[in-house]
Amino acid sequence: MRGMSLGEFDLIERYFTHPTRRAVLGPGDDCALLAPAAQSQLAVSTDMLIEGRHFLSTVPPRALGHKALAVNLSDLAACGARPLAFTLGLSLPRVDEPWLAAFAQGMLDLARAFDCELIGGDTTAGPVISISITVFGEVPMAPQNPLGTTALLRSGAQAGDDIWVSGQLGDARLALEVFRGTAVQLGEPAFNTLRRALEWPNPRVALGLGLRGLAHSAIDLSDGLVGDLKHVLTRSGVGAQINVDAIPRSTELAAQSAALQGLCTLAGGDDYELLFTAAPERREDVLNLSRALPLLLTRIGQIETEPGLRLHDAQGQTVPLSYSSFDHFRA
Ligand code: ADP
Ligand code: MG
Repeated sequence: MRGMSLGEFDLIERYFTHPTRRAVLGPGDDCALLAPAAQSQLAVSTDMLIEGRHFLSTVPPRALGHKALAVNLSDLAACGARPLAFTLGLSLPRVDEPWLAAFAQGMLDLARAFDCELIGGDTTAGPVISISITVFGEVPMAPQNPLGTTALLRSGAQAGDDIWVSGQLGDARLALEVFRGTAVQLGEPAFNTLRRALEWPNPRVALGLGLRGLAHSAIDLSDGLVGDLKHVLTRSGVGAQINVDAIPRSTELAAQSAALQGLCTLAGGDDYELLFTAAPERREDVLNLSRALPLLLTRIGQIETEPGLRLHDAQGQTVPLSYSSFDHFRA
């Protein structure tokens, strides 16, 4: 790693090496060693964050460290997997120790909170900051089920299912719109609430675990409700109708124009809430889970046999579907 004052190995040692409790072997050797529980499957997911594309160089490094891991834990949550460990691929234009210390703190605080250990990675010099995390989680096997797994999948939605979402949608996108100057100006406390949604997402791991055996399908909302729900519909071979007025939103978002509310709730992106489907007979179970967590869970629509996605408002009027999800190669 030429051009870096602190050597590559010192840097790894100083910021990214911690004793592991669950993994058999952490950073330092050619491979890390994991010991998943007997009768379980490994759930594996990777997400990259590139400076200038997913975040700006001005993002506070502690928030960035948090978010980089949070978006990966959100994928485990969507599968109903229990977090186990992660690896970190990191490229940096230069060694900036205060930046690294804050980044590592944000990431490792979240790792500790979810008992998910950093077990290895790769560190290199590069033109911009890029962060690639791979998480490993475990899900119990289920011999009676066709795929042999208790994991929640996108492909399990059934006609007649209720469609649920966790939390409130759209705040992260509204924060971006405030940064861009397109939203109504908000007071400092209101803006800080939105900014927290954008920079400090809370992966819904406990919800994912609680949905095993309860939900038929699940996905985490990273690219916007409409686009992400379409993934579930396509993979499950079904359609859906959504009541756009039922989508839960903050008072800050509810104070914006109808058009901006629609954009933020339906195509916002960066929500990191879970969308899931479950049989109507399980409504009480879902609401009990909501109280136990506690976490707001709201029914926003139904899965239908007819393919496609149909939006309507609280009065039953059709709402045109004018949003598509974020696509890195089409944006
Ligand atoms: P190799 O030469 O085998 O690729 P490296 O020199 O890249 O090994 O890494 C040495 C050790 O440090 C490995 O165990 C690797 O997993 C660990 N490591 C490298 N970068 C990171 C990082 N960013 N976070 C955690 N561990 C890391
Ligand atoms: Mg290497």
